[in-house]
Amino acid sequence: MNNSTIADHFALLSKLMDIHGENSFKTKTYSIAAFHIERLEEQLTDTDRNTYGSIKGLGASVAAKIIELIDTGKMKALDDLLADTPAGILEMLELKGVGPKKIHVIWKEMGIASVGELEYACIENRLTRYKGFGEKTQVKILESINFYNQNKGHFLYAQIHELFPSIQNYLEKIFGTDKVWNTGNYYRQLPTLHELEFIVAEKLEFIKQKFQTAYPPELLEETANSVLYKLNNGLRLRVYAILEGIPQFLFSTSSAPEFSKAFQQRFYDGNFESTTFSSESEIFEKANLPYIPACLRESVSIIDRAGQNDMPTLIQVSDIKGIVHNHSTWSDGLFTIEDMARALIDKKMEYLVISDHSRSAAYANGLTEERIIQQQQVIDELNKKLAPFRIYKSIECDILGDGSLDYSNEVLATFDLVIASVHSNLYMSETKAMERLMKAIENPYTTILGHLTGRLLLSRNGYPIDHKKIIEACVAHNVVIEINANPHRLDLDWSWIEYAMNKGALLSINPDAHTIEGFDDIRYGVIAAQKGGLTPSCNLSSFSLAAFEDFISKRKAAIISNT
Ligand SMILES: [Zn+2]
Ligand SMILES: [Zn+2]
Repeated sequence: MNNSTIADHFALLSKLMDIHGENSFKTKTYSIAAFHIERLEEQLTDTDRNTYGSIKGLGASVAAKIIELIDTGKMKALDDLLADTPAGILEMLELKGVGPKKIHVIWKEMGIASVGELEYACIENRLTRYKGFGEKTQVKILESINFYNQNKGHFLYAQIHELFPSIQNYLEKIFGTDKVWNTGNYYRQLPTLHELEFIVAEKLEFIKQKFQTAYPPELLEETANSVLYKLNNGLRLRVYAILEGIPQFLFSTSSAPEFSKAFQQRFYDGNFESTTFSSESEIFEKANLPYIPACLRESVSIIDRAGQNDMPTLIQVSDIKGIVHNHSTWSDGLFTIEDMARALIDKKMEYLVISDHSRSAAYANGLTEERIIQQQQVIDELNKKLAPFRIYKSIECDILGDGSLDYSNEVLATFDLVIASVHSNLYMSETKAMERLMKAIENPYTTILGHLTGRLLLSRNGYPIDHKKIIEACVAHNVVIEINANPHRLDLDWSWIEYAMNKGALLSINPDAHTIEGFDDIRYGVIAAQKGGLTPSCNLSSFSLAAFEDFISKRKAAIISNT
């Protein structure tokens, strides 16, 4: 064992002690030891162990630990701490600019135990409530998390979406607009991605030459017809060099294998590769089918629907008429209700649903009953001032541990609509999660079920649930299922949308906006919903003001007759 390894053990021990909030004097002893061991000229294993205690920066307790480590390969104090530290906390040590003392606050005071949850807390503006975490620190932490994730090749759709135009432009500039096609999982509109894929109609050698710039990207992989580069921002860019059969290649790389196989068998019977197509759409024309966009090329059922000319009219951003589920300065949002309303009036939207957090969400400044009364007065005033634009009184009501909602029925009755969401005790068995959600769905005051599984893409799995049962219960109790458009959530997952629509469920693409810019997340909800085949008529936030008003008043009348 060399000095550098021994020093690493002490450095980690010191960091973990800080993370666990142990006595800082002891912690310092070990970081000082690490510092000095790293700089020793002679290897400790070649030094008389009786002299360890008198080496500069080391004392008796450090000396004992060095001997233990050399003899056993282990350091018990360190192993004990490692066993008591969640993997997500250890991962945080890899974030630049987030030291052990900060991690201590993040873990012990904020209750955050993974990089993904930390990322979400930054986005929701939750760090600034803690000492030592100003707005600047929050921005810096978010930057290092982005860097960390990207370096691992994990991207949300939204992150690639922002980078996409510049990369496409770059490729088109080099190779010509008629020689570049986007394909793969981005083209298929999948919510998380590892790489961005393009087809270029050139020879591989020629493509590689063009990437030999002054600062060439790292070449990660090369096959007979493709190269995979890692760009400076961490993005993996795959380029396929294809000269013939481009429409087929585009089709195959942008379809789920199950879909692609069934389609080729049914319509081309082994002649798919040998047929000449001038474009991707001609593949469908020659099969006498309407065009199936890449986002729907997932299951065999869509082929049947296309055959019956029953393709869904996919929802578009322009179909969204009102913005449901938003947080203002009354809880953890950054803008006043009036600012948010005016921004939507400028965007020609017809209504805004303000759903701040409920009282149990103390970390998010959830509303007490007195503050609800005050907020509703403010909304009444604004509605007079801003008519015909309409602001609806809502709440994002916590679903408590036992499935009940966070206020009495009298308080719940004051809202136009209630969005019920789980924000606490997220680690549940399926039985527990189902009990909790079912009770909330059965509550007559629940209008919308918010972010169904609590998942955070790339960082936290949702709690386990029986999707079919939940969807059926929502239909039976006339509860709308949210498609949370925050690119970290996209929850209900797209893969359940078709099932929900077939059962007669009403869904709602909601941005869960905490800022005015957050409204734009609607587009990511729409992109995910398109993948599930969502039509505007099955989406509550596509309702015109009149239809929305009608929906709300019928829903309220039903509560009165049910209670
Ligand atoms: Zn929420
Ligand atoms: Zn929310």
